[in-house]
Amino acid sequence: MAKKVVVLGEIRNGELRAVSYEAIAAAKEVANGGEVVGLLLGENVNILANEIIHYGADRVITVEHPDLRAYTPDAFLQAILQVLDAEKPEGLILGHTAIGKDISPRIAAKLKSGLISDAVSVEVAGEEVLFTRPIYSGKAFEKKVIQDGIVFATIRPNNIAPLEKDESRSGEVREVNVDIKDLRTVIKDIVRKTTGGIDLSEAKVIVSGGRGVKSADGFKPIQELADVLGGAVGASRGACDADYCDYSLQIGQTGKVVTPDLYIACGISGAIQHVAGMSNAKVIVAINKDPEAPIFNIADYGIVGDLFEVLPLITEEFKKVAVNS
Ligand code: FAD
Repeated sequence: MAKKVVVLGEIRNGELRAVSYEAIAAAKEVANGGEVVGLLLGENVNILANEIIHYGADRVITVEHPDLRAYTPDAFLQAILQVLDAEKPEGLILGHTAIGKDISPRIAAKLKSGLISDAVSVEVAGEEVLFTRPIYSGKAFEKKVIQDGIVFATIRPNNIAPLEKDESRSGEVREVNVDIKDLRTVIKDIVRKTTGGIDLSEAKVIVSGGRGVKSADGFKPIQELADVLGGAVGASRGACDADYCDYSLQIGQTGKVVTPDLYIACGISGAIQHVAGMSNAKVIVAINKDPEAPIFNIADYGIVGDLFEVLPLITEEFKKVAVNS
C-alpha cells in the first residue's frame, strides 16, 4: 500500500546533515510509491527546502520559529506533533542521531505508536515494511515490522544510500505556523568544544587511536593520516580515560556508533565494548604490535607493528597517491 511518509531533515550549522538525505531514501522505500514529505524546523530553514526535494522528497513543510533555533525536546516535540496531526502520515523517519534518539521515543509515546530504532536497512515485503537493525552490539541482526499504527523508525547514519541529487526536481514548499508554549528549557548559548572537523557518525574514513598512542602527542600521526584521507579522528575509551583525547571522540558501546567505509584502528586492543561501535565499518584495518590482539579477529587487514613506525609510512604513501591523482 502506498503511504505518506514524513522525514525530519536535521540541520547543523545551517546545513542539512547527510543522514537527512539517507532518511529520504528510506522514506521512499517505506512510501512504496506514496508521498515523501520533508519537515524542516528552525530559523531560516526555508532556504534548505529545495535541497530536500532535490534528494527525493515530493514536498516540504517548514516551521520557522525562534524557539526552534536550537534543539530542545519540548519545542521540537510540540512542533512535530502539530505537523503530524495536520498531515496524518502513515510513516515517519528520523536519523538515529543524538536528536533522533532523544525525540523519537517522546513522539512514539505521544502517538502511542511503536518505534524501530537504529535501522540499517529497510525493505518492503508484500504489505509489510521490514527494518533490519543490529543487536548484541552488532554481533547479529534482527528484522522488525510495525504491525499497527504509523511506520516509525530511526535510521543509522551512513548505512542507507541517499538517492542521486536531481536539481530538476521541484515540489511544494509550505511554511506552517505552530504554537509553542510552556517550555521547560531554553537554550541561551551553545559553546562548542571542538571547532569544525568531520562528524564522526557521518565520516567515511575514521582513523582511531587507543591507549597504544601513549600520550596526547601520540595522536599527531593519527590526525595526519586522517587529514590526508579526508577523514575524522576517533578513539577508544582507553585513550579517553588516559586523557590523551576528548571523550567526544570515543567510539564504542558507551561512545559513538560509526559505520565508515574505512576504519583504521591504531593501538587499540579490540575490547568488545569498542568493537560494538565500529564492527559494521565496511573495511577495518588494525595496526597493533601484539599479533594476538583481538582487534585482528575482526580486521580485514592487519599490520603487526609499532604504530609510530607504520603510520608515517602509510601517510607518506597516501600523500603520493593524493598528489598523483
Ligand atoms: P588497551 O586495551 O590497553 O589496548 C592498547 C593496545 O595498544 C594493545 O593491544 C597494545 O598491544 C597496543 N599497543 C601498545 N603500544 C603500541 C604501539 N606502539 N603500536 C601499536 N600497538 C600498540 N571502550 C571503548 O573503546 N569504547 C566504549 O564505548 C567502551 N565502553 C565501555 C563500557 C563499559 C561498561 C566497560 C566496562 C568498558 C568500556 N570500554 C569501552 C572499555 C573497554 O573495555 C577497553 O578497556 C578499552 O576499549 C581499551 O582501550 P584500548 O584498546 O585503547 O586499550
